[in-house]
Amino acid sequence: TTVAAAISTALAISLTACGEGSDSGSDGKAASVGIAMPTKTSQRWINDGQNMVDELKGFGYTTTLKYADNDPKNQVAQVEAMIDSGVDALVIASVNGKVFNNVLEKAKAADVAVISYDRLILGTPNVDYYATFDNVKVGTIQADYISEGLGLVNGSGKGPFTVELFAGSPDDNNTKYFYEAAMEVLEPYIQSGDLIVRSGETELNEITTLRWDGPTAEKRMNKLLDAEYSDQDIDAVLSPYDGMSLGIIKALKAHGYGTAAKPLPLVTGQDAEVPSIKAIMDGDQSQTVYKDTRELALVTAYMVNSVVHGKKPALNDTRTYDNGKKVVPAYLLEPVGVDKANYEQVLVDSGYIKKSDLK
Ligand code: BGC
Repeated sequence: TTVAAAISTALAISLTACGEGSDSGSDGKAASVGIAMPTKTSQRWINDGQNMVDELKGFGYTTTLKYADNDPKNQVAQVEAMIDSGVDALVIASVNGKVFNNVLEKAKAADVAVISYDRLILGTPNVDYYATFDNVKVGTIQADYISEGLGLVNGSGKGPFTVELFAGSPDDNNTKYFYEAAMEVLEPYIQSGDLIVRSGETELNEITTLRWDGPTAEKRMNKLLDAEYSDQDIDAVLSPYDGMSLGIIKALKAHGYGTAAKPLPLVTGQDAEVPSIKAIMDGDQSQTVYKDTRELALVTAYMVNSVVHGKKPALNDTRTYDNGKKVVPAYLLEPVGVDKANYEQVLVDSGYIKKSDLK
């Protein structure tokens, strides 16, 4: 068995303690689950959707899977249609976490269980559980990579170093967790002058990137390079997501970076998507954060199955994720930092990415 298979088995056993066998709905038909995913522009969400379908089928559920093309209104309409069609449970990875108030009241009234998937739904009590990764740890891993990579931690680096900061979509609740955790690491170096943000843009509202859009990040990077880095090179870029990292790298290359005389800065990422792993192999992107979406789907399927049976699912965090109306009980999975040194072991050996896909 692969490492991942062994881990999944262990995870499944630990989750089963509270889970149940497969179910049929109250009408005697197989219970059904609506799965709402944000976008197909990123491979991770395509995998998440397929993994959820597969895991739920394994429990004997029927599924409806919809992608919202990153449009919040569209996603609410999709969820509403699922409720109207009589689903027993909803799994929602929201585009905008704040727009589900009314539609989830309807879910509640129809006795539909609601699981927030990866991203927390805000401002409504009608979210039963949350399955995600340790989002604080994601930001810490990214910022540690920069502080360690520049030699700031052990003092081997001859600073001061220049850095620019990028954050994710302002309507995604994860954004502030990634940002705050990263800043916890970087702020002391900014204070001491070892890290310099030439643009001065360090507040979250100055550095967000609507819908995590790569071209938007590329545009901002181009602007920053033109305005601030004509007389000095940039040493590091905090990027929260692989699709943005690739846009940022494009801008850097357009400004002459990527040669022996002008090496690319450290650029972080998230999701371990294939194009970024290739960029890591090529030495363009420095790092990413691997989140095993197979495990997230597994945890979520067990959650759904528990809730449908009126049981409490396995949880490992009941205090972090306050959505404004309630602290949503959660199961958090571990993110893993990946770079050139360990991508093969972590991603290929675990079967997450096929070696042939990296050619
Ligand atoms: C997810 C990240 C992902 C980002 C962009 C976040 O909510 O947690 O894994 O990189 O969305 O899709």
